[in-house]
Parts: sequence; structure tokens; C-alpha cells
Amino acid sequence: MKGVLALLALVASVTSMENYSGQQVLRILPANDKEVNLVQELENHADLQLDFWREPSKPERFIDIRVPFFSLQDVKVYLEFHNIQYSIMIQDLQELFDEERRDMKIGRAMENARSTDTFNYATYHTFDEINNFIDTLVAENPSLVSKIQIGRSYEGRPLNVLKFSTGANRPAFWIDTGIHSREWVTQASGLWFAKKITKDYGHDPSLTATLNKMDIILEIVTNPDGFVYTHTTNRMWRKTRSPNSGSSCVGTDPNRNWDAGFGGAGASSNPCSETYRGRAAHSEPEVKAIVDFVKSHGNIKGFVSIHSYSQMLLYPYGYTTTRTPDNAELDSVARAAIGALSSLYGTKYTYGSIITTIYQASGGTIDWTYNQGIKYSYTFELRDTGRYGFALPANQIIPTAEETWLALTKLIEHTRDNLY
Ligand SMILES: [Zn+2]
Repeated sequence: MKGVLALLALVASVTSMENYSGQQVLRILPANDKEVNLVQELENHADLQLDFWREPSKPERFIDIRVPFFSLQDVKVYLEFHNIQYSIMIQDLQELFDEERRDMKIGRAMENARSTDTFNYATYHTFDEINNFIDTLVAENPSLVSKIQIGRSYEGRPLNVLKFSTGANRPAFWIDTGIHSREWVTQASGLWFAKKITKDYGHDPSLTATLNKMDIILEIVTNPDGFVYTHTTNRMWRKTRSPNSGSSCVGTDPNRNWDAGFGGAGASSNPCSETYRGRAAHSEPEVKAIVDFVKSHGNIKGFVSIHSYSQMLLYPYGYTTTRTPDNAELDSVARAAIGALSSLYGTKYTYGSIITTIYQASGGTIDWTYNQGIKYSYTFELRDTGRYGFALPANQIIPTAEETWLALTKLIEHTRDNLY
């Protein structure tokens, strides 16, 4: 019976999955402010159903847009008419997702998920598989790892965090992945980090010193409703899945929902926008759960929120051009971190404050954590810079996680050695 149900669920999920055949991702290089504005103008045409993978910000900074097949001609004609330079970044998005599906099938066939040693870190996993992994990891390392449920998602899924700890009442370093559900390389990297921590404790001197002084807290699936939706229905889903009254559009951008410059520029008040800020700060249970946890913990000293893509390491602020009092220190630690990152595979990162490096964004996670007194607040944008974007092939998961871990280690060490 269980098998039949699973099969039915599989059939249902396959048949209702959004298809991206013929869809392209265009990479646009605006030469000046006028061209930036012209591309921005496209966002007002809801009928084109464009999905901005990289938002317009400033001249000479790429804008990536996923364009449905039926809008391709219109968009290309518009760009050519205005003489705006562009190229085709992804020729047919569905082909990449077909490959991703095949990889997941093969990856699953190759693994034995009953142990975290034989778990396949080089493939993408579902929400249930990740939760099984979490329980297995805790069972294997009961004196080091515990699972804490910090709340429930809008649709009632558990918000689980892993706590790596060797003593009571310690300061902590927080890491979250997957707050934007379609950024699959982030949750996949989170799984690898969890295993890495359990493997290195007692063997790697730096991590051992860290865990003898400080806890590490890791939330792998920070937006579970969105994540499940990316597997069952729409691979490109970014937001939460809470409904919006008065609109047929679903979801809030959980990285615009924090009480830090909430409602300011760099977030949308339109529920249909990918950067919709929500009806109120902390309206999303996925955000509120972290807010409550951070406040009740009271001793979190470092906070890293991980996104993709663009290869950047960023620090506050996003909502204002005012520099934080810690700007010089945050900047030099970021430089050291991306230096460590690039030492492994030569992957190049840029770094800086959010507003100077990308664009103004209000209501973001790390602006809120910084304003809570968590000095070492950072956000990553992992691989790549736009060959595949959100459709990063699974064979890049482990290299991405490995190099990111080197940067994370720098941030964690600096926090550990400069407790305040
Ligand atoms: Zn993101």
C-alpha cells in the first residue's frame, strides 16, 4: 500500500511539474543608467512573466532574466531596438533540469542513506531525505549533535536546526542555507558542512578548538514550504508559500521580511513580485522562528546566511548607505575569507557591503542580525557567476561546499578569537 501511495505521489508530482521547454535565460549588460532603467521597465510588464535571476542595479553589472518561450521574441526585439547588449546565457532551461532529474535518480541509486558515510553529497536531495539525514547524523553523534525544532513553516513543516555543541551555555555561530528555496546548491552545501563538522571534531585542531569554546548552529532547509514546492511543482520558486490577502499571488521574499529598514527601497510592496516584503516585518513564520531563537539564545556572536548565485561575500548594510561602525573589520575579515576560498579551486569572489556591492535591499536577514548586536553578520552568494545560475549541475556541489567551508572557517575562527 505504501508503495502504491508513493508511486501515485510520484506520478502526481511528475505530471504537475512546471515545464521550462524553450525558456531561455538572457544575460544583459547595460552600458549606462538609461539602459538600466530600460531593462527595469520590463519588470512592470507582468504579462511577459519574466523572472529576474539577477536584478538590474547599475551600469556594467549583468542582469540575468529567465524569459518564457512566448515572451522571447518581444524581449529580444525590445533589447535590440534600444541597442542594449545581451547574450543567451541558457539556451533551453528544461534541458538543464532534465539533466538534474537524471542526476538525482542516479545519485539516489548509488547511495545508502542509512549512514551519513554512504550518503551521496554529490546529488540534490528532497526535504524528506534531508530530514532523514539530520536524524541519522544525530543518532550517529549523540554527544556532539542535537536537533532543535525552532518552529513550523506556514504549511506546518518542522523548522529544524542542528546544534553542534560540546558544553552548556556557550556562545554560538549561526549558519543558514536555503532561505530562498530555488538556490539548491546552498541546502546541498549545508548537508556537506554538517558532515564535515562531525568528521573534523577531535581531528582538525581549528574546528576542535572552536567547538571547545563555541557552538555551531545550522539550519539547512530554512524555507521548507518553498523547497518542497521546487521539487513538486515549480523548480524556480524562491519565496515562502503563505497566501496574500487580496491577491492571487503567493509568497513573501523571506530576505526582505526582517525588521531592518523594512518597507524601504529595495523591496516590493506588490505580492506578485519576487522581492515582495510581506504585509509586516516578521510576518513569515520561517523568519519569526529565527528572530525568536536569536533573541532567546542571546549569545549568538556570528551569523551567516547563505544564498546563490554570483560568488560574493557581503556584510551590512543593505538598506542604507551608512557604514556600520565595524566596516573596516568586517571588510578585512571578508577579504581573508575569500582569499581562503579561492585557494582551493581558484574561484573568484567579490566582497563588500550589500548596498555598495549589489544594490539597495531592505528588510534583509543580516541587517537585522547586525542591528541585534551580532557583529560578525555575513551573507554569501555561492557559485556560479552565471553559466548555470540556479541550475548549477550537481557535480559542482562538493567543490562549492569545500571552498565555501574554507571561507566559513575564517569567519568562525575570527569570531571565536574575538568574542565580545
Ligand atoms: Zn537568495
